[in-house]
Amino acid sequence: MALTHKPVPLAIVGGGAAGLFAASVAANRDLGCLVLERKARPGAKILMTANGRCNFTKDVPAEQMLADIGEPVASFVRPALTACPPSRIASGFRACGVKTKRMPDGRLFPASGQAATIVHAFGDLLRDAGVPLATNCPVTGLQPMKRGFIVATRHFTLWAENVLLATGGISFPKTGSVGDGQRFARDLGHSVTPLRAGLTGFETGDPRVRTRAGLRFEDGSARVLDPTGRTLFSYRGEVDCEQWGISGAAVYNCQRWTVRHPGPFTLEASFDGERLTLENPRARPVKESIVTIGGVSTDDVDPETMESRKVPGLFFAGEVLDIDGPTGGYNLSLAFATAHLAVSTIVSRLN
Ligand SMILES: Cc1cc2nc3c(=O)[nH]c(=O)nc-3n(C[C@H](O)[C@H](O)[C@H](O)COP(=O)(O)OP(=O)(O)OC[C@H]3O[C@@H](n4cnc5c(N)ncnc54)[C@H](O)[C@@H]3O)c2cc1C
Repeated sequence: MALTHKPVPLAIVGGGAAGLFAASVAANRDLGCLVLERKARPGAKILMTANGRCNFTKDVPAEQMLADIGEPVASFVRPALTACPPSRIASGFRACGVKTKRMPDGRLFPASGQAATIVHAFGDLLRDAGVPLATNCPVTGLQPMKRGFIVATRHFTLWAENVLLATGGISFPKTGSVGDGQRFARDLGHSVTPLRAGLTGFETGDPRVRTRAGLRFEDGSARVLDPTGRTLFSYRGEVDCEQWGISGAAVYNCQRWTVRHPGPFTLEASFDGERLTLENPRARPVKESIVTIGGVSTDDVDPETMESRKVPGLFFAGEVLDIDGPTGGYNLSLAFATAHLAVSTIVSRLN
């Protein structure tokens, strides 16, 4: 065989939820790709999800998911979630041998109760398909060429026809997501909206909370009110008491709402027969939030393809983008669906 120098069809930067899903889709469609991952092992954040159980999607129609996600995110992710709805995500994992468990509200988990089952499923699929996965391999730079890109790492560079940035947000930076993708995108002329904490708790020193620190109240609720007392958003679900304040699904979804709809607000939380009222409470820092709100501006990315509007051949998926959803499997679904759309676009162009 004659040796010729040719680019890898797709370099995937980041071996997290979006990057691993993208590589799996590429493998299934016979698109040559490789994954470059900063950390020693891929999928570190997946292992943390839902306290190590991984709520990987929610068994609801795409339309319901979009309604729950709300604007401005829903309009942008509509093509991705319509092409890769929760039913498709679930059947994809089942096809990889992952047995699933459905909660009464539709949340789906691996039946093993272990997030590692999901990471192993990706690992097995990529091993069987022979997809190279370079770990301990942070990408340090990205340079568009006449054809494709030069992707730089500490020890080597490679030539890639297309690049998918799947480097995540900036929460729990020990998992490897430190904002590199947003930096690369900015250097290449994309706008990046401010990175803020999403789905995190609110701080309070209220003794009713402090005396219950460590307790979870599943039948709690929380709501956001405007200064006239009108309810703007409400959610029934878990409220947890912590040393520093309150957390849990009901609080997280309210906190996300306040970031997407800035302005003065009152938070009301009910748990264990108590009703707590907090005026403009402070949210916990982004480094311990479940999701990063903000990222590569959706104005600079084509929602039908996930390709940059500034740099042809450059694609984005997952939390590196300014997209986020409520708790309950929405954020992994967004990572998977955007990854699926990016790879589908590249495959359709090569055929
Ligand atoms: C505690 C916690 C619980 C959660 N629970 C759930 C849940 O149950 N359900 C749900 O839907 N969502 C959950 N989420 C959110 C979900 O985990 C994320 O939204 C999702 O992982 C985002 O996927 P991603 O691929 O965009 O980013 P990540 O999964 O963060 O992956 C990004 C990857 O890119 C790598 N990387 C970064 N920079 C570079 C570089 N320069 N070169 C190479 N590699 C790089 C990182 O090391 C990392 O592996 C949870 C999050 C947290 C923190």
